[in-house]
Amino acid sequence: MRLTMQRIGVLTSGGDAPGMNACIRAVYRAGTRYGLEVYGIKNGYAGLIAGDMKKLERLDIANIIHLGGTVLGTSRCEEFKTLEGREKAEIKLRERGIQGLVIIGGDGSFRGGNLLSLETGIPIITIPGTIDNDIPGTDFSIGFDTAVNIALEAIDRIRDTAISHGRLFFVEVMGHSSGFLALESGIAGGAEHLILQNSKEEIDILCERLKDMFARGKRHAIVVVAERDRPGCSFDISKTVSERLSMDSWVCVLGHTQRGGSPTARDRILAAKLGVSAVIGLIEGRSGVMVGELMREVVYQPISDVIGGRQDLDPRMTKLSKIISN
Ligand code: ADP
Repeated sequence: MRLTMQRIGVLTSGGDAPGMNACIRAVYRAGTRYGLEVYGIKNGYAGLIAGDMKKLERLDIANIIHLGGTVLGTSRCEEFKTLEGREKAEIKLRERGIQGLVIIGGDGSFRGGNLLSLETGIPIITIPGTIDNDIPGTDFSIGFDTAVNIALEAIDRIRDTAISHGRLFFVEVMGHSSGFLALESGIAGGAEHLILQNSKEEIDILCERLKDMFARGKRHAIVVVAERDRPGCSFDISKTVSERLSMDSWVCVLGHTQRGGSPTARDRILAAKLGVSAVIGLIEGRSGVMVGELMREVVYQPISDVIGGRQDLDPRMTKLSKIISN
């Protein structure tokens, strides 16, 4: 490979996701493999603006592959949304001679990275890292598989109590507006029902199904609820259903437990693939693109095609969930 680039930077931004560390490691390993210096930028865009960055050494990324969170730190940085903030970031990058940037984060981070790239001409490649799996242009984002497995473990545990006591449980999972986490953890956990949209129609259907189930002699049920844009929405659902069916119900909101913890093998492998591909992409002269994986193929797509887009639930999977929960 012909190298015109000597020094690149890597940062994590927005919500943390398990597998970000494995991805930082992959960026470092690929960078050094191809003769680049790799700078780690602390705390996302806040660190970029502050010039809080250092050349990564082998020991900095040793023994981090299995760790959740991000060793570089992350942040939400309002200043980066302003032109002045991004100009400060550009100055810091130029001062340090950083000629390309890898950004691991979600939709908001991509927006910031895209603007920085357009305004400065500094090559930027983004990598989807979010448990929500709400980024189009990739089948999965880093962190999603781990979050599914954490939710699954919680559902399995709750099932023990639900069965023992004969209870109706609502288990609310994260996933922001997408519903992916609820769909996959619900299928894997054998949930009796899924609430993915929190619509009135869904609640009506749920009540009818529960009535049927309990009339047939079933003593327990687990309903997995997607938080959507309303974390805590399952309390209202539980109240409505309890009133309508004149029965008690219990709520468990999994919340941030789903964001932490050691990444699964699948997330580590995805992180390795995308981290290495981002570095290769920069060396090949790509910029303003997100690297993702579609049908097992690594793909580069303009960030502008990805931001603000929707990753819809696969209708085959929603159909499947209905068939097997019956
Ligand atoms: P995520 O990347 O997980 O979606 P956020 O939406 O909080 O998380 O975005 C992370 C950071 O990206 C923000 O704190 C901000 O610094 C930057 N960012 C978000 N939206 C924009 C935007 N429209 N323009 C510039 N920077 C943005």
